[in-house]
Amino acid sequence: MPHRLSLMQVRERLAAGDILPTEAVQACLNRIAETEPQLHACLTVHSEGAMQAAKSLEASGFPQGPDSQKLLPLWGVPIAVKDVFCTKAMPTTCASRLLENFIPPYDAFVVERLQNAGAIIIAKTNLDEFAMGSSTEHSAFVVTANPRDVEKVAGGSSGGSAACVTAMQAYGALGSDTGGSIRQPAALCGCVGLKPTYGRVSRYGMVAYASSFDQAGPMARTVEDCAMLFSVIAGYDERDATSAQLPVPDVMAGLSRKDLSGLTLGLPKEYWDGGLSAEVTAACRNAVRVAEGLGARIIEVSLPHMRYAVATYYILASAEASTNLARFDGVRYGRRSQKEQSLLDVYTNSRSEGFGEEVKRRILLGTYVLSAGYYDSYYKKASQVRRLILQDFEKALTQCDALLAPVAPVTAWKRGAFIDDPLTSYKMDILTISLNLAGLPGLALPVGLGETSRMPVGLQIMGKAFGEAELLSIGNVLEKALPGMERC
Ligand code: GLN
Repeated sequence: MPHRLSLMQVRERLAAGDILPTEAVQACLNRIAETEPQLHACLTVHSEGAMQAAKSLEASGFPQGPDSQKLLPLWGVPIAVKDVFCTKAMPTTCASRLLENFIPPYDAFVVERLQNAGAIIIAKTNLDEFAMGSSTEHSAFVVTANPRDVEKVAGGSSGGSAACVTAMQAYGALGSDTGGSIRQPAALCGCVGLKPTYGRVSRYGMVAYASSFDQAGPMARTVEDCAMLFSVIAGYDERDATSAQLPVPDVMAGLSRKDLSGLTLGLPKEYWDGGLSAEVTAACRNAVRVAEGLGARIIEVSLPHMRYAVATYYILASAEASTNLARFDGVRYGRRSQKEQSLLDVYTNSRSEGFGEEVKRRILLGTYVLSAGYYDSYYKKASQVRRLILQDFEKALTQCDALLAPVAPVTAWKRGAFIDDPLTSYKMDILTISLNLAGLPGLALPVGLGETSRMPVGLQIMGKAFGEAELLSIGNVLEKALPGMERC
């Protein structure tokens, strides 16, 4: 069954000619047809376009040459991308009625990179509208189910990508992480997800939610697969003013590490104290013991300002969202209200009809914290606290090589459980958002099933700026030492 292969396995077989690109695409399309009625992971399945792309790769064949695998590392490999990345061959909806029929005139940087590496875009995946949410229940179109229990949420906002790779609909996927949207759905579904350092992957063509937080990253079934995708999408791009002009280390070479000896790993006590479910604590503590057994020195560290993280994040991210979403006015992009109206009504009605509840809530909150009279006490204060949180991380990371903590305080919950309770759902982002406030990288690694829920638990490995190679190498060692998670 080719859909069961890992990305690394399928790419080898494609390059060797043992599997043809059309066969790889067909395997994914079959799997999508089989699982989509329950999962709703995809908003667009690019059946014909993907098959067409596969045929044209096949017609020319895998180029024979010493550097071919370097130049075309994903030749013929079907990959899904979150529907927040612009694709000129497919709609880009951000799971919003406002962009329901929007087809961008260009591809996002990461989509270009995937295609230049030979990958085939097979689907655009579901998300919380404009990436605002933690369960993919805020999509305007469908709710994505967790492949391990369809009564439960897939997490969010990249729940579509997490469900898609976990259910083996594609060999890998891209997500975006503004406050945890790669790591949390990866943890809840049981796949691997990497949020790179801010600036490591270009945001060009990724629809903005909160520009100083947003970061694109890979999701896959193994750490190695994730590293491969990361190596394809990372790097400088002059079209993103915040793109880092730094060389990207060879992350694949870094995976040769055999154990964790010589490494000091810090447990930030604020992440582990209180608020975690017993089964999450147990599974993550077990992973820490395994790390210790592999030679790591474990110490406790402190991030004292973390208790302000939720408030700080929701003030700043909403402020940025309110300005970023001002461009959706019914004139330049997407949906325009059909009511008879004045110019002002065009704006008001298009936005009222186009945006969902959660997006409106963020715009209202963001406009409020930026308004004259409140700017200093909310936006400015939150910006100052953001700096303190970064300093906490910098200090902790002088004492150790990386930090270990759970990704989410609980495993996947029943669909609908928090839909009318935004505050509780915001609070559950507590373990992921600090890292976005600091701009640092984090890897979510599945470490087992919760004893009571039998749903996946994710461990978060957080590190120094631009230290993705280190995180991937630690994750790879741990992944091999932990018992494998059965496939769904
Ligand atoms: N759950 C967080 C939010 O709603 C993070 C979302 C994200 O990372 N895109 O803002």
